[in-house]
Amino acid sequence: AAPAAASFDGSADIQAQVVVLGSGPGGYTAAFRAADLGKQVVLIEKDDVLGGVCLNVGCIPSKALLHVAEVLNEAREFADLGVKYQEPEIDTDKLREHKNKVVGRLTGGLKQLAKQRKVQIVTGYGRFTSEHSIEVEASDGSLPAEGSLPAEGSLPAEGSTPAKGSTPAEGSKQTIAFEHCIIAAGSSVTRLPFIPWEDERVWDSTDALELKNIPKRLLVVGGGIIGLEMATVYHALGAQVTVVELGPGLIPGADRDLIKPFERTLKKRYENIFLNTMVTELTPADDGIVCKFEGKKAPQQDTFDNVLVAIGRSPNGKLVDADKAGVIVNEQGFIPVDSQQRTNVEHIFAIGDVVGQPMLAHKATHEAKIAAEVIAGQPRFFDARTIPSVAYTEPEVAWCGHTEEQLQAEGIEYEKGVFPWAASGRALSIGADVGMTKVLYDKNNHRMLGAGILGKNAGELIAEAALAVEMGAEMEDVALTIHPHPTLSETLNFATEVAEGTCTDIYLPKKK
Ligand code: FAD
Repeated sequence: AAPAAASFDGSADIQAQVVVLGSGPGGYTAAFRAADLGKQVVLIEKDDVLGGVCLNVGCIPSKALLHVAEVLNEAREFADLGVKYQEPEIDTDKLREHKNKVVGRLTGGLKQLAKQRKVQIVTGYGRFTSEHSIEVEASDGSLPAEGSLPAEGSLPAEGSTPAKGSTPAEGSKQTIAFEHCIIAAGSSVTRLPFIPWEDERVWDSTDALELKNIPKRLLVVGGGIIGLEMATVYHALGAQVTVVELGPGLIPGADRDLIKPFERTLKKRYENIFLNTMVTELTPADDGIVCKFEGKKAPQQDTFDNVLVAIGRSPNGKLVDADKAGVIVNEQGFIPVDSQQRTNVEHIFAIGDVVGQPMLAHKATHEAKIAAEVIAGQPRFFDARTIPSVAYTEPEVAWCGHTEEQLQAEGIEYEKGVFPWAASGRALSIGADVGMTKVLYDKNNHRMLGAGILGKNAGELIAEAALAVEMGAEMEDVALTIHPHPTLSETLNFATEVAEGTCTDIYLPKKK
């Protein structure tokens, strides 16, 4: 059951049973779920729009642009099939407007959902003042650009008006006394000190999503998911792209057998991919940003029209005066929680990017529901077996459950079934033959432990594997499930058949 409620502080401006700090996917989900469970909820957000990084400057705008990139690339590839289009004219203003409309519809929808649930929105920057109170300072517009307001005039009015009556005058403060609090303050772009951020040609992911210009030559620093998704967009829009990655491969975290063919595809497409390479200096010059590299295959220096720095994100845990509430924040800025999302302070919970990796929206929303339900007295725990990861690149990369690297590190005896998409009728007929689906399973009981997919729509396809992992399905369960033909989903079916030795779509030498 939920811990005993604190007595309200009568001198506070607002009293709340549950206060949620931050309105990203974690925060708004927690607020709405708590309200649905009968709690009186206040949601604090420093920006004028709800939705946090994901809706405003993350998942959603990037996918709106990636869809355009996909169509552009497909249209170009059609030339080889005998259908030739002229090179498209790109109107970046219109494209930005499209992206902002998608964002505006969703953020406007959130406002509506909050209203229907009577969740009170307070706009301003929140900081703890004690273990049962938060002070909210009305935003003055000078807060960090990243993760905050989209560029002026870039959103339709619909999604951008703060909830009526909830915004105190700029700079003024209100106090909120709470019984329970859920910290959902998210994360911000990691900013290396030597990067000349003051130069407009140097971008973080938020800048890149603004489509300020399409550079002739773009350098992407960081070969992780965010950098590569933006590389996909700008390459499709006509930029020559160079990617530089400090580690030995792109998309660390995914198995290398998925990433090798991915890297080969990208190498053909991009100007350069420099692995094991460090950027040591970025210097603004008249003709571009001069970048110095340290790495065997990279030149000493090169000049780019724009540089996108996408080297990761840092949690915002240190920015909310958590110590005033007695909440522990670790060195990196993460707030440690238990399996019920509870911090070291009984009635204060934390969720989403601010509690740890993986920094993904679907992890934040899952944790949000747990926190809200625990506060409402339900016996809920974070016991998910898998949090799937997806790179919405071209081709897409998706994986769930254990990777091979993890299985080896944990000493788990496993085997794998691999199905190459070159043998899939559906993949060939839609020009998606660069791809593979693999399943990893327990050698002893054949339960699915993990899966990895490279190829078109891998992000959609991985959901079936995630369900199988979550339910402890055996290879046979998936192998004997009739999948529609011809589909890409069959490749998961075939990979499990490979595991079972029953696949007839590729030749399998008999096991001795
Ligand atoms: P956030 O979304 O960061 O929200 C935190 C909110 O709290 C913000 O609105 C912030 O303004 C507010 N806030 C912070 N401190 C205070 C304070 N003191 N007072 C008031 N308000 C405060 N994830 C995916 O799962 N899929 C994707 O495809 C994907 N694509 C991405 C693409 C990009 C370019 C980026 C940058 C991220 C992407 N992510 C993706 C990650 C995803 O956006 C985050 O994991 C997710 O937004 C985390 O949600 P959250 O609720 O923890 O925090």
